[in-house]
Amino acid sequence: MTIRSDILVAGAGAAGLTTAIALAGAGFSVTVAGGLDTRRNGRTVALFEASLRLYRSLGLWERLEPLSKPLRRIRLVDDTNNLFRLPPVQLEAAEIGLPAFGANIENAALVEKLAAIARETPGVRMIEGMLGDYVTHEDEIEGRLSTGERLAAALLVGADGRASQVRAYADVGVHEWRYPQTAITALLRHAEPHRSTSTEFHTRSGPCTLVPMRPDPSSPDGLRNRSSLVWLMSPDEAERRMALSDAELAGDIEAQVHGIHGRIALEGPRGMFPMSGLSCERLVAERIALVADAGHFFPPIGAQGLNLGLRDVAQLIDSMEKYGRTDPGCTHALADYDKRRRGDVATRSIGVDLMNRSLLIHILPMDFIRSAGLAAMASIGPLRRALMREGVAPPGRLPRLMRRAAHVAP
Ligand SMILES: Cc1cc2nc3c(=O)[nH]c(=O)nc-3n(C[C@H](O)[C@H](O)[C@H](O)COP(=O)(O)OP(=O)(O)OC[C@H]3O[C@@H](n4cnc5c(N)ncnc54)[C@H](O)[C@@H]3O)c2cc1C
Repeated sequence: MTIRSDILVAGAGAAGLTTAIALAGAGFSVTVAGGLDTRRNGRTVALFEASLRLYRSLGLWERLEPLSKPLRRIRLVDDTNNLFRLPPVQLEAAEIGLPAFGANIENAALVEKLAAIARETPGVRMIEGMLGDYVTHEDEIEGRLSTGERLAAALLVGADGRASQVRAYADVGVHEWRYPQTAITALLRHAEPHRSTSTEFHTRSGPCTLVPMRPDPSSPDGLRNRSSLVWLMSPDEAERRMALSDAELAGDIEAQVHGIHGRIALEGPRGMFPMSGLSCERLVAERIALVADAGHFFPPIGAQGLNLGLRDVAQLIDSMEKYGRTDPGCTHALADYDKRRRGDVATRSIGVDLMNRSLLIHILPMDFIRSAGLAAMASIGPLRRALMREGVAPPGRLPRLMRRAAHVAP
């Protein structure tokens, strides 16, 4: 038996689930099939203003907000000991008229909640299982579940993450690269409050970032305050630190963040992520659209990954509403999606790559350029505000679902 719908979404991560819910909201029948990955690995996502607007427009934010913590300030600390080292730069959301830049949510909790919402959304059929064996026909595209069941639709959305099988089937040109870095992620409890401030230490091996999380009033050791950690380091150092006990790793973190949060304890399992990047020559192929990590990824610097992916999702809805009503897989709709996403994806991928490499290249001119950039950001108000806006809700033509202002809870 073949299950048919207007649109088939492969992948049930944050991007795939959001795509399915949003497409159903736009009136399409959707099947989303994917392996649900809700393993706890200390990984969170900071979602910025434009992403919150998307969830608010879809009516989902009130269900996600209780899982999140607003980010009101971002502190950038040059911890490279370079010759031109500057005092920390503090960015305030209030400076660009926002109550917060966005909100931080544990990735597994976000996926769990979106999956629960998808299951109860009219127009969405959710199937847990891996998809593959794609075949394209004239007016539809088919995939097969690991159980052998066939799924068919006019459009296949590849939201199946970094190792996307949809991308491989689409046979789009891909540029992939690696960095000599691995990220360790963990949830932390700590003694001192974070004051809704995300602090990014720029070290010679990459950033070490503490991102605010909701407090835990029932904390067993009195450490009520919570943050998530993303710490980039050499692969050897990451291996060594992953083998440390919780208490030993907590000690290393305290030293790296110069004790700003006081005593630290680890909460739950940690994660380890080798750093790499990928860009595609296009985000579409015959009856296929790629969204989020299936179409582009880069290191978690400036928390841009899923935010960029959700802009893909919001644009896909625009392109489908405009050109895909009778045939969601038609070339008009796909060409519109690809054209409107290309610039944003390329700028973001290049920007993150440059920021990361500027830390890894230990030469005086590079130190000077990086420090001059930070100094300009600290002292030139209009530049600082333009960069903040660019980071959280890029000005210009945002997709319809991202145009409304988000209201962040106190
Ligand atoms: C350490 C770290 C920190 C990060 N921090 C941030 C941040 O603060 N802010 C931010 O915006 N981004 C951040 N990112 C990036 C962000 O996590 C990713 O961009 C985002 O998770 C991508 O979501 P996705 O749904 O595209 O992919 P994934 O989360 O990888 O989901 C893909 C899904 O597809 C499923 N799947 C795979 N193959 C198949 C198949 N054949 N059939 C069906 N299903 C399949 C998988 O099981 C999975 O459920 C971070 C990334 C890392 C590594």
